[in-house]
Amino acid sequence: MNKYVIPTPPASAIPVSGSEQTFPVRRVYCIGRNYAAHTIEMGGDPDRDPPFFFQKNPDNLDFTGEFPYPVKSSDVHHETEMLVALKSGGTNIPVEKALDHVYGYAACLDMTRRDLQGEAKELRRPWEIGKAFERSAPCAPLVPASEIGHPEKGLVQLKVNGKVTQTGDLDQMIWKVPEMISYLSEYFDLAAGDVILSGTPSGVGPVQKGDVMDVMIEGVGDLHVTVV
Ligand code: MN
Repeated sequence: MNKYVIPTPPASAIPVSGSEQTFPVRRVYCIGRNYAAHTIEMGGDPDRDPPFFFQKNPDNLDFTGEFPYPVKSSDVHHETEMLVALKSGGTNIPVEKALDHVYGYAACLDMTRRDLQGEAKELRRPWEIGKAFERSAPCAPLVPASEIGHPEKGLVQLKVNGKVTQTGDLDQMIWKVPEMISYLSEYFDLAAGDVILSGTPSGVGPVQKGDVMDVMIEGVGDLHVTVV
C-alpha cells in the first residue's frame, strides 16, 4: 500500500554538469543586500545595514531556460546570483570549516516581483509574495567544487538582450560564502540539499516578455534564460 494519501510531490533537483545525476534540494536560503553597491541602489546603507536572509521554495528553482513572466506584477526584476549547494550541514559551523560542506556552485537568478516586494516592505510584511513565486529562480547546472574549487573572485555579469546591466565580482560580497554558511548554521540546522543564493551585485532592473538574459559567473558558468 502507498503510505501517502496523495501522490508524492516531485522532488526539486538541480542538474549536475557533465553527469546524469542530479542534486536534490531541501531548502533555499537567499542572502539580501550582500553587495554594497546593490544595498545603496535599494536605498540602504551598507555600513549600517548588514546582509540578511529570506527563503524561496525548492520548487521555485527552474532549469528549463525559460522564465514565464509572473502574474500579479508589472515590475519584474532580475537579480544575478551564485548558488552554493551543500552536501552536508550542521549547526554552529565554524567559518574555517564551512567550505567542507559545499558540493558545488551554479549561476542563477533571483527573479523578483519588485512592485509586490516594495508593497510588502512598506507594510512591514514578509517578502514571499515578491520572491517565492513560480519558477522565480532560474538556475544553471551545478558545477562540483571537486572540479572548480571554491571561487572567491570572478566577474559576475548579466546581459539583457546583449547589453550589460549587472556587473560585480564575487570578491565584493559582504558575507563571503564561508561566512554565510556559518551565519545560517547559527540559526538553522543546515543539511545536505540546502542551497544558498548569495546575493546580487548592483544594476538590477526590469525585464519584459521576449527579453534574453545571459548570466556569466567567471569560473562557475553561464545561464541563458528567455522571458516568455
Ligand atoms: Mn537576491
